[in-house]
Amino acid sequence: MKYGKVYLVGAGPGDSRLITLRAVELIKAADCVIYDGLVNPALLRYAPPAAELISVRKRTGPNPANQQTVNELIIEKARRGKTVVRLKGGDPGMFGRAPEEAKQCADAGIDFEIIPGVTAALAAAAYCGIFLTDRDYNSQVMFVTGHEAAGKEESNIDFELLAKFAGSIVFYMGVEGLGEIAAKLVENGKAADTPTAVIANATLPTQRIVKAPLNRIAAECDSQQVKAPAMIIIGQAAESDARFNWFMNQPLFGQNIVTTRDIRGNAVFAENILAHGGNPIQFDSIEIKDLTGDEEVQTVLQNMDGFDWIIFTSANGVRATFEALDTLGKDARSFAQAKVACIGSETTACLAQFGIKADFLPTVYTSDQLAEQLARHTSVENKKIALLRSAAAPKNLADALTKSGAIVADVGVYTVEPRKGEPTGLIEQIKAGKIDWLTFTSPSTVKAFFTQIRPDLISTRGVKVASIGPVTTEQLKKLGVNVTTQARTHTIDGLTDALIKESDKESEIAD
Ligand code: SAH
Repeated sequence: MKYGKVYLVGAGPGDSRLITLRAVELIKAADCVIYDGLVNPALLRYAPPAAELISVRKRTGPNPANQQTVNELIIEKARRGKTVVRLKGGDPGMFGRAPEEAKQCADAGIDFEIIPGVTAALAAAAYCGIFLTDRDYNSQVMFVTGHEAAGKEESNIDFELLAKFAGSIVFYMGVEGLGEIAAKLVENGKAADTPTAVIANATLPTQRIVKAPLNRIAAECDSQQVKAPAMIIIGQAAESDARFNWFMNQPLFGQNIVTTRDIRGNAVFAENILAHGGNPIQFDSIEIKDLTGDEEVQTVLQNMDGFDWIIFTSANGVRATFEALDTLGKDARSFAQAKVACIGSETTACLAQFGIKADFLPTVYTSDQLAEQLARHTSVENKKIALLRSAAAPKNLADALTKSGAIVADVGVYTVEPRKGEPTGLIEQIKAGKIDWLTFTSPSTVKAFFTQIRPDLISTRGVKVASIGPVTTEQLKKLGVNVTTQARTHTIDGLTDALIKESDKESEIAD
């Protein structure tokens, strides 16, 4: 049997978007992904469903027996003809065991490739606005492993040389031995007041930075309980301009924000939160189920020609409709005769994906406003209107249109069902005061969430609550939940803006 190929791939430093296109391409084609503890598990979503995913999380410290097992695993999978992606944190060549793995492959006659990644030193520097080189004062950089330093009498590290080195010194794996590293540098003549920065969890929403002179950095990190993984940057570069710390200066940085939609909706919202530096905590409180096979859905979609207006009120409605059309062997041309109205930017964007531009959007994204403004925009009298939306949607939209003289088919194309999650972890985080925000985007998410978590827990722990609009707010109030802020525009973007506005207010108070 032909051997498979092995790819030693850099997964980047933490933020799952800091991976190369080549790495993603290889993960997509892998039969087997063998990944380290520092690899962001979010990257595994690129793997094909049938791929074998093997975690080889190692404890810190050299562990030859363990590494031997990893080597054997790689070889065994490749011998069985599999395409093996060996996914490693940062860059595979920086302070890891890639040289051994490459040797094993070479000895066994197995082809391999090495794909570089964004290494933690460069990522930590960039995400703190630290420039490791500067044409004015610094032309040299040194990468060192601090692992050797901790608790060893003899070490490979030449502290005499490091003490003399006038450039930036970057230590990997050094926080545990930070006190010793700093002491040895000073003993060997490095200035005690050399600027030093320690960056933990670089590029992640939990990133932290501690700055102090070399002789005080260990005590400072101790008192702030800084833990691995962390990078140590020593030298003039570490002083850095606080205004350059763009990542941590983002408006939602440091905020733990719970999203409570369905899995897909949460993923969309999480992207938005991440884009402003926040830490999204995804709690899937509902599940969307398409009613593709439903008789009424099929009949209406078979006879789209007979409708004057089609109305979508959510991206889920659009997706479910096109899913059902697809099963009928139809496509967007079914809407050729009708005009299309919708609410919300997500809905508009989703329609655009299917090649449809909405003919009408109200200025305010609520169903009441849609009914009112559509009737002002055009005469709906005796017009046939199809509402393709959640089976559980409140009847007010259909009633209002009927009142204006329209002939309405209110069709449920999907259902929203509460999803039993695993609330224990979230409850613990709430109790520990680790949650800043709960966000709600519909009455159904409110109901589903608070069947699992008691509303009074929220108010007693100072958790803030953000609502997408008046209907959701009303449902929250019904359950006795205080609403801290309500989005001005009733979309995910609007809700994100509301969170940003609140955190601006807080930082003004803090200033
Ligand atoms: N090959 C990796 C390094 C492996 S050694 C790379 O190129 O980045 C592991 C060390 O890397 C950790 O002890 C820590 O010092 C550093 N490290 C990895 N990810 C990090 C992160 N997100 N933030 C800070 N340090 C990180």
